[in-house]
Amino acid sequence: MEEQSIHVEMSTALKEKPKTDQLEFGRTFTDHMFVMDYSAPIGWHNAAILPYQHIMVDPSSMIFHYGQSVFEGLKAFRTKKGDVQLFRPRKNFERLNRSNNRLVIPPIDEEFVLKAVKKLIEIDQDWVPDAEGTSLYIRPFIIATEPFLGVAPAQHYKLITILSPVGSYYKEGINPIKIAVESEFVRTVKGGTGEAKTGGNYAASLKAQEVCAKEGYSQVLWLDGVEKKYIEEVGSMNVFFKINGEVITPKLNGSILAGITRDSVIELLKHWEIPFTERQISMEEIAEAHESGQLEEAFGSGTAAVISPIGMLAWDGKEYTINGGKTGALSKKIYDTITGIQYGKIEDPFNWNEPIAEKTKIKQ
Ligand SMILES: *Cc1c(COP(=O)(O)O)cnc(C)c1O
Repeated sequence: MEEQSIHVEMSTALKEKPKTDQLEFGRTFTDHMFVMDYSAPIGWHNAAILPYQHIMVDPSSMIFHYGQSVFEGLKAFRTKKGDVQLFRPRKNFERLNRSNNRLVIPPIDEEFVLKAVKKLIEIDQDWVPDAEGTSLYIRPFIIATEPFLGVAPAQHYKLITILSPVGSYYKEGINPIKIAVESEFVRTVKGGTGEAKTGGNYAASLKAQEVCAKEGYSQVLWLDGVEKKYIEEVGSMNVFFKINGEVITPKLNGSILAGITRDSVIELLKHWEIPFTERQISMEEIAEAHESGQLEEAFGSGTAAVISPIGMLAWDGKEYTINGGKTGALSKKIYDTITGIQYGKIEDPFNWNEPIAEKTKIKQ
């Protein structure tokens, strides 16, 4: 198949950029967006970079009724030299296709979409902030746009990618969070959509989030949906525990989202030859490790925060303080290493970075 070309229409009304110390997650968007349509039987077509604008869709579009959609989240970083680079972007487009498969959305050409997204970032590269800890968040997503109320996979879709400059997740340095173990609500079960990055999983998680926030916790720790015994994830992050020198993370079991940060943490642990196991782990085992003084650290991993140390876990009427409520040495080392690679401050032995644009090439 011949590769399609990308139509580019430049915005004639460039927006004012927010100050880097006033960036809020996901509130400001850049001047342009990437869009592409799918229609059976012709496939994906109409690839275009357009001025950021509203989209026109019919009220009967299937996305509004049955939630057939998938999304991704990745970041571009401004290095000290001024260049812009992406962190492991191929993994995100591979995962988008795995999510597509689960939601019966036609697959995308990963290479082509990555190329288009790079071009979009190059056009909007002045939006990549350069202050400490800031980055450009990239949100590709696909929605079912066919106007039809029947329950079936849609015949028409839109893929859109929007960009949002985001501030530092940790305004006052990396900080531990308080987590409530969720014993009533479940996020997903094996055989469900937990492995896919789809909006419905988030809709289903809001109630638990609301309840825990009222009780003063910042996220919930999800247990398995069948026995409510085994640990799955924390909020929208994967989770790791350090017990007696060994790092443990729940094994991908069909209901856990395969995080790219999770994968990066695992590669680092192996590289550093730190004892590491992927296996089923129960909340009871964590409580016992805490009681015997062997629970050394716990942390979440995800694109937004990179590493989020867990300072306290509340479960079954008890509070378990971890590492005195402070950031553990390993959590800090992983955070510093991943962010160091992302901002080009340290060597990238794994080839995780993918360059986009050099500052010197900017023409405006
Ligand atoms: C996106 C996501 C993660 C983290 O994945 P990363 O690729 O590391 O950002 C973890 N859990 C859920 C439920 C997610 O949606």
